[in-house]
Amino acid sequence: MSERVYIGLGSNLAEPRQQLENALAALGDIAQTHLAGVSPLYVSDPLGPPDQPRYVNAVAALDTGLEPLALLDALQKIELEQGRVRKDERWGPRTLDLDILLFGERLIDEPRLRVPHYHMQARAFVLYPLADLAPDLRLPDGRVLAEMLAACPFEGLERLP
Ligand code: ATP
Ligand code: CA
Ligand code: CA
Ligand code: CA
Repeated sequence: MSERVYIGLGSNLAEPRQQLENALAALGDIAQTHLAGVSPLYVSDPLGPPDQPRYVNAVAALDTGLEPLALLDALQKIELEQGRVRKDERWGPRTLDLDILLFGERLIDEPRLRVPHYHMQARAFVLYPLADLAPDLRLPDGRVLAEMLAACPFEGLERLP
């Protein structure tokens, strides 16, 4: 059985648009996984330290037969292959960040994986591209994406043509 998963992509180092292009190709290459859709690209202000470049963001829809932790392993492998260096600094600059936003109807609360992503309601760069792909989405915990969007200003965000 395959489940619909939404992935948040972000990059602010080393040609961010190219990083996202490469990451999308790599997502399609994951075993038992099909890349079903990609949102437009957005540019956003950084969350953490302000002395870093703006981010390029997008959301991708996958259909996968993998279990959540196996998918997380595959995503972290792609991050490393694209030169991500783990630093102590929270929300510091990175070549590629791949977050699991939603995984079918699952609610996951494990040390390595919390789904829905714990902070998505506060992040315009997640909610707007997600709504481009799935405007009528309802989350497994009952929240309605359109309502989350209405409560999250389109602030510091720019949709690329
Ligand atoms: P944030 O999680 O606030 O977006 P971040 O993306 O910078 O911050 P990372 O350093 O990329 O955080 O990830 C830290 C850990 O978060 C990962 O090693 C992973 O195990 C864990 N994690 C928990 N939930 C998720 C999720 N839904 N998607 C991806 N990683 C997750
Ligand atoms: Ca594939
Ligand atoms: Ca993140
Ligand atoms: Ca992450």
